[in-house]
Amino acid sequence: MHPFSYRQTVDEGSAIAAVVAEESATYIAGGTGLIDLMKLHVQTPTHLVDINALPLGNIEAQGDGVRIGALARNSDVAYHELMRERYPLLAQALLAGATPQLRNAATIGGNLLQRTRCSYFRDIVTPCNKRDPQSGCSAIDGYNRSHAILGGSAHCIATHPSDMCVALVALDAVVQTRGPKGTRTIPVADLYLSPEHHPEQETVLEHGELVVAIDLPASPFAAHSRYLKIRERASYSFAVVSVAAALDIQDSIIRAARIALGGVAPKPWRAYEAEKILLGQPPHSEIYHAAAVAAVQGARPQRHNAFKVDLVQRTVVRALDFLAGVRP
Ligand code: SF4
Repeated sequence: MHPFSYRQTVDEGSAIAAVVAEESATYIAGGTGLIDLMKLHVQTPTHLVDINALPLGNIEAQGDGVRIGALARNSDVAYHELMRERYPLLAQALLAGATPQLRNAATIGGNLLQRTRCSYFRDIVTPCNKRDPQSGCSAIDGYNRSHAILGGSAHCIATHPSDMCVALVALDAVVQTRGPKGTRTIPVADLYLSPEHHPEQETVLEHGELVVAIDLPASPFAAHSRYLKIRERASYSFAVVSVAAALDIQDSIIRAARIALGGVAPKPWRAYEAEKILLGQPPHSEIYHAAAVAAVQGARPQRHNAFKVDLVQRTVVRALDFLAGVRP
């Protein structure tokens, strides 16, 4: 591991100032992603600012919505009664991720900013534009079974690994940040950058900008939602494909729909075209299949992952069937 200095902070202002002051300083909270990458020499921060003592761990109702502090632990959010009542999709997505031990340590803010699981990114002897800009992408002509079929570029086809973020995008969640230039409110759907020419730039956050909370708005569909994750094994495995789906059905008509995909794109992927197909329709199998086809519109599979196109479609239909009560 490269040498680094370490300090703890007890207020947001000094934490932000400490990271802003040093170009390769970074925050650490749960450390479940960062420590791994430091051991692998993929991330080599010179200074770690420990933010665990900041008062950012609350989970509280805000009207009919909920605010989750960035330092709330994944397990605490997943088992919180407000999530189970109002946002079952988020609880399901959190419990589908990692292991109980990791969920007890990992924070919501860290989950939001976790790095890709592309194996070339984590192997410092291979070219990788995300880890080492302009060095090339080993995955494009390499083994790319786990990589993106949507939203990739000629420079990077890595997928975003988070389950939670797929649910957040479907729920129209918003990130609250504080940084050297003040506070910002950023929809989760706008937080992540496409890997066009600079795959190393993953989010719109500036250096030192601290995620302080995630806001979940009230919605007519959030309580009627489902997260489905297809993976290689039942525990501690990242999504091959995942689907977050939510429907608001009134008088046998779909009044609102949300579909987001995981494991298939560099960011949690909102399937807007699929949602449009569902709107105003009675819930039935034919319209679910049409939405599933639209969800993979524009897909560009790689050599080893063409199977994901069909798998996404079948998972979308399955999730919608669950919501319609066709499946238990
Ligand atoms: Fe690196 Fe992205 Fe290519 Fe993976 S897909 S090797 S992260 S540039």
